Amino acid sequence: MPKCTFCGNSIERSTGKIFVYASGKVINFCSRKCEKNLLQLKRKPLRVRWTEDYRKATKKDQKNVKK
Ligand SMILES: [Zn+2]
Repeated sequence: MPKCTFCGNSIERSTGKIFVYASGKVINFCSRKCEKNLLQLKRKPLRVRWTEDYRKATKKDQKNVKK
């Protein structure tokens, strides 16, 4: 399963969207929310609170999730 480039959630088969830049770089989106945040609003995942990158960067999920 591919992961959403923006929020980091795994994408179910036959859902989401694959976006290909003219340069050939491929990114995946789980929802229009993520697509809009990255392409239109040009937000960085590290600066958006609901993404996995943000949680990893701030280490806020370490207390709740034990692997
Ligand atoms: Zn997403």
